[in-house]
Amino acid sequence: MATVRLENLRKEFDAGDIVAVDDVSLTIDDGEFLTVVGPSGCGKSTTLRMIAGLERATGGRVHIGDDDVTDLSARKRDVAMVFQNYALYPHKTVFENMAFGLRMSTDLDEAERAEKVEWAAEMMGIPELLDQKPDELSGGQKQRVALGRAIVREPDVFLFDEPLSNLDAKLRVEMRTEIQRLQEELDITAVYVTHDQEEAMTMGDRMAILKDGVLQQVGAPKEVYRAPANEFVGGFVGSPSMNFVDVRSESTAGGVALVAADEESAFRTTLTGPAAEGLEPNEPYTVGVRPEDVSVVDDGIATTVEVVEPVGADNYLYLDVSASFIARVPAAVEPATGERIEVDFDESAVHVFDRDGEVVGVPERDDPVPVEA
Ligand code: ATP
Repeated sequence: MATVRLENLRKEFDAGDIVAVDDVSLTIDDGEFLTVVGPSGCGKSTTLRMIAGLERATGGRVHIGDDDVTDLSARKRDVAMVFQNYALYPHKTVFENMAFGLRMSTDLDEAERAEKVEWAAEMMGIPELLDQKPDELSGGQKQRVALGRAIVREPDVFLFDEPLSNLDAKLRVEMRTEIQRLQEELDITAVYVTHDQEEAMTMGDRMAILKDGVLQQVGAPKEVYRAPANEFVGGFVGSPSMNFVDVRSESTAGGVALVAADEESAFRTTLTGPAAEGLEPNEPYTVGVRPEDVSVVDDGIATTVEVVEPVGADNYLYLDVSASFIARVPAAVEPATGERIEVDFDESAVHVFDRDGEVVGVPERDDPVPVEA
């Protein structure tokens, strides 16, 4: 078990033309499960590979436990990595695949190695597969072997690089739970890279969001969802995505009104509470409202229903409030396409972003989640 501490980590490729990771500082606590999420090319894998020692940092330091491992080779770091493509040796049996790392990195004798492999196979529920070769296994079984191979060494740190991307949706959900169970039982610090925000939210004790190599926000999933630090995080975390409307601010007697910049839109909301603090009059802002915070009401923002998309318990209503605006409402709320309806949301559901996309003020929350350091 160990803390992982990244200090101003930087990685350049092509003589500095590409900055894959830009000044990332982050501490992953002992026994914590941290998910790292962001769009393709944002530097997730490169960050993970620098922790593993598979990629050399251009600048900054990597600490594991009390040690500065920045200049240590991968083999000398007590980490185990699980990849998307399983990376199993095709000609070795499951047993041999799992025992191989032990043979290379420990001085255990054969009997001790066998005992460890059997323990790990038991943990992963695959003892009956030990004599098989990888090409005889399903994708889910291969990933169990890859996980078994990672835990057999009982590393200080688990590193996962999109380990479930090759699995079908049902198996993915099953394996998520399995990985979480494993990490909790073994109490190993884990860093888990994924492009899937739902996976990042459901699995992580905390999640780190990257964009263009730059860390945008780190926090408990609930906290990031409720109080995104900027427009990018607001739009990236949550599904369907947060709705955005370009507005202008106007002072009113009771607070600040935010009125759609697009004259065709009836969007207008007045903030009176803490969310209004920090807003200048007559300035452009972007308002963010989550689809699940929008309800159909008798007296609100008038709009036309463009599409009704049923998704089981809920309906997604596509509305012409802005270029893309969705209300997520219970399935019983079922307006017709083309119908005029009115929608509204609570003031506490309004996120306001400035021209640089940074959040302005902190919206009032019903049950605020403490912000972690
Ligand atoms: P994905 O989800 O697509 O795997 P990612 O967030 O993991 O993306 P990285 O693989 O870390 O992103 O890549 C970050 C940036 O660095 C990208 O622009 C990528 O093209 C670039 N990059 C990564 N590895 C190399 C390399 N070996 N040589 C040159 N550029 C690289």
